[in-house]
Amino acid sequence: MQLPSALLHSLHGLEGFNKESFEAVHSSAEQITSIRLNPLRQAAIQNQKSGIPWTEQGYYLESRPSFTFDPLFHAGCYYVQEASSMFLEQALRQTTDMSRPFRVLDLCAAPGGKSTHIQSLISKDSLLVSNEVIRSRAGILKDNMIKWGSANVVVTNNDPKEFARLSNYFDVIIVDAPCSGSGLFRKDPEAIAEWSENNVALCSQRQQRILADVLPALKKDGILIYSTCSYSRQEDEEIVDWLNKEFSVAPVALSVDPGWGITISDGGYRFWPDKVKGEGFFIACFQKKEGDVYVAPKIKEKVESITIKEKAIVNNWVKADGLSFIKHEDTVYAWPEILYNDFNLLLAHLRVVYSGVLAGELMREKLIPDHALAMSGLVADSVGKIELTYDDAIKYLQRKEFRLETTIRGWQIATYQGHPLGWVNILPNRINNYYPKELRILKDF
Ligand code: SAM
Repeated sequence: MQLPSALLHSLHGLEGFNKESFEAVHSSAEQITSIRLNPLRQAAIQNQKSGIPWTEQGYYLESRPSFTFDPLFHAGCYYVQEASSMFLEQALRQTTDMSRPFRVLDLCAAPGGKSTHIQSLISKDSLLVSNEVIRSRAGILKDNMIKWGSANVVVTNNDPKEFARLSNYFDVIIVDAPCSGSGLFRKDPEAIAEWSENNVALCSQRQQRILADVLPALKKDGILIYSTCSYSRQEDEEIVDWLNKEFSVAPVALSVDPGWGITISDGGYRFWPDKVKGEGFFIACFQKKEGDVYVAPKIKEKVESITIKEKAIVNNWVKADGLSFIKHEDTVYAWPEILYNDFNLLLAHLRVVYSGVLAGELMREKLIPDHALAMSGLVADSVGKIELTYDDAIKYLQRKEFRLETTIRGWQIATYQGHPLGWVNILPNRINNYYPKELRILKDF
């Protein structure tokens, strides 16, 4: 693996940089595979080697299995994520009181690694706004949030500057910025060809623009967490310097176990792959020191509630405790009651792609349950479940035909090792497979 000489040259003198071991780790064939478990699912995952020390939820694997052919992957039991980036957990836990409800914005969120992690850390009454500016990537983000299964999330598709409409609103903002990507060269050597000094400079300018655009949305004393997967000083420490100089923010230090191998640099934390068991990563935390108190604006109710009759239908499918149900055309969404005003406000100000849990579609006095409901943990106890074998689970996920020896009929949640995969409707002579077409496994086993 030939690393760009201009990159190597630019890293000279940086805290923790050692050219020989840095080059050696890129030339070695070693690949690290890690996953983060979904605490809502409690699945037993094979092949776990050891825990990742800076997170309670992450594990290194012995080897890289075929995730595509593991039904538990599709059931949202775990997320395949690079280990260093799970350090976000320390940044959140050490800067924020996680036991109380708060509002967090993950500004550059697709495909959802950090957002699913955040959702596993915050309380049910907290609000996660998971945003992605690129529309197609916002769709992937939405699918991953649905798979992870929680109701306290709103997925949006907005430009950072559009968050100025929510000034002083968020307690925490995470900017996992688009960057030149050098930190992932070991995992993705093809990215080396795309690296250039010019791109580093462009990324650095874009990072400044994103931060300046979104900072007004952070409340006074709120926490900003900035991260990249770039080694370049221009995208890391220089952004930290610029933030400290241009805005009323104060750096927040984290305590780091010396055994973790993380390098403390000027105002941030560097992950060098020859020193930590993970890829290249940089993270820094700040506290905002000024801002007005957030005052909720009066907004016209944007949403329609369901009728009492419709509620009775929905109650057959959804554990309704603590939820409000709203209608958009014929689709019904479940929103956490406690977040109703926030959801409504976000709907008024942002391009909301998804909110809460899509329960289903009302049709001729019936509810056709949605895939998202199956994945949400909100399904009423009276709804049946049918356990699939490994082979049938794969056929189900491929949307291929399969047969079940059962006398059970009607809508059921298909499960694998007890974890939901999606809906089936069992008819006397066939099984209707409601796994979403766009999510199906395309490869043959
Ligand atoms: N946080 C994600 C995760 O953990 O899975 C990874 C985010 S990736 C490093 C950066 C994201 O920023 C990409 O999804 C990219 O589409 C988005 N992005 C690109 N240009 C942007 C811009 N100008 N403003 C905000 N986000 C942008």
